[in-house]
Amino acid sequence: MAGQSMLDPPSRAQQAEFHEGFGQRVLLTVDTEEEFDWDAPFSKDGHGLTHVPAIARFQTFCEELGVSPLYLVDWPIVQSDVAVEIIGEALARGAAEIGVQLHPWVNPPHDEEINTPNSFAGSLPAELEAAKFSHLHEAIKTRFGTDPLVYRAGRYGLGPNSANMLRESGIAIDTSVRANFNYSDRHGPNYSSHPLTPYWVDTEKSLLELPLTSVFWGMLRRQGKFITPALRHLPSLASVMSRTGLLERIPLTPEGVSAEEAIRGADMAIDDGLPVIVLSLHSPSLDLGHTPYVRSAEELEQLYDWLRIVLGYFAKHGVKPTTIAEIMRSVVR
Ligand SMILES: [Zn+2]
Repeated sequence: MAGQSMLDPPSRAQQAEFHEGFGQRVLLTVDTEEEFDWDAPFSKDGHGLTHVPAIARFQTFCEELGVSPLYLVDWPIVQSDVAVEIIGEALARGAAEIGVQLHPWVNPPHDEEINTPNSFAGSLPAELEAAKFSHLHEAIKTRFGTDPLVYRAGRYGLGPNSANMLRESGIAIDTSVRANFNYSDRHGPNYSSHPLTPYWVDTEKSLLELPLTSVFWGMLRRQGKFITPALRHLPSLASVMSRTGLLERIPLTPEGVSAEEAIRGADMAIDDGLPVIVLSLHSPSLDLGHTPYVRSAEELEQLYDWLRIVLGYFAKHGVKPTTIAEIMRSVVR
């Protein structure tokens, strides 16, 4: 194909443009997935779906804020009748959108050894990555009665064959690139040189990348891309730099990031004129005790407060919520 590996940063020429009037928008994405112990070795089973009913409150909350969330669903979620009912009902009303999220270790066919390197789907042999993807893609179409256009690799695990696979499956948008993060120490991708701006993966402009938004804040923010890789092995220096306001990396998520920090990050994204700002969270954080970020009822309310505050801040600065449908209509081909 006329394109490149999604592991390589794109050239400036690949940057996507949006029609006039689109301005800056914010997209709320939810990694909708089973609960599992994030610190335990990967396993085919032993996960839970007890948080799924809690998605209903989140959906209502989003609708009250005028936000249409993008649920990136994985295999166990697609098997859950409760998930299909809650999300399917929102989809039918046009109040939410759906995408594909591949967690290879819980997704058939199970032909690989389950371990950390193989938890990045893009690291699997091309045929196995594609077989897992198509099982999931078909299951979503059958269960939700809609053809998802968006993909996120679980653990941001793109690989050298992912672009081809996505194009052949009719996926129009990928949102697996977590710019400014490097997972190579655990056999994952290195996105430290990838941009935050949306870009075309291929010259035919059939596959658009929407990186997750993680900005640098602080006096050295323009140098963040160069300094952060060097700080990987110096976590204490990194934390001093962040506390002293020299350099802080702020992923736009309520998970482990305070609303105050997120607003500093939001300011950077707005100042930089980023056309699409991508927020993310994991569905198990919508209930108590499944992720390190939401352990108590108080922390759950803080998560909702974060969304209210940060989305309110964007709205106040003219950054309206957007949808995949709107992005598809608004990107210049
Ligand atoms: Zn995930």
